[in-house]
Amino acid sequence: MSDKARKVEAFISLGGNIGDPSIAIEDALTALANKPGVTVTTRSRFYRTPPWGKTDQSEFVNACAGVKTTLTPTELLKTCLEVETSMGRVREERWGPRIIDLDILTYGDVTMDDPDLTLPHPYLTERAFVLVPLKDIAPDFQLNGTDISAMLEKLDTSEIVAMDQH
Ligand code: ADP
Ligand code: MG
Repeated sequence: MSDKARKVEAFISLGGNIGDPSIAIEDALTALANKPGVTVTTRSRFYRTPPWGKTDQSEFVNACAGVKTTLTPTELLKTCLEVETSMGRVREERWGPRIIDLDILTYGDVTMDDPDLTLPHPYLTERAFVLVPLKDIAPDFQLNGTDISAMLEKLDTSEIVAMDQH
């Protein structure tokens, strides 16, 4: 296989808390799957989650997806931001309400800290709303020798509730 065609596995978290976030996540997954160089291979259940960071806002729906991609990390971020913009996301306050948010959690085993892209995602290990859905699709996930169950043991998951069907 040539380098150009080599596919890397990446995990993406999706979430929103404006309108019907479940529909927004569905739409985002469809939009992502339609992008050149991206195949959506797995998706978690959808979860109702309390707001994090800025808590005076509506509850969120969150999910995670696994993709295989021929895009570089920067191209994949650009693609995620395009999906957000195409769905009408306007950036206002940090961690504020949003129609849809797509974050790259990991891209293969790449680590980077560019002004526009940090990998793995800097808050990955602190966010139960990311780790709970990620565990659905990657139960063997590890970071720096710590497995996902050990990460979750340190967090409050009591308010992360799986939705019935998706
Ligand atoms: P947040 O996701 O923290 O709520 P935003 O979605 O508004 O905030 O993202 C702000 C910026 O974070 C993006 O424009 C992007 O350049 C940057 N960023 C850095 N690392 C990542 C990552 N791993 N995934 C997605 N965005 C990232
Ligand atoms: Mg984001």
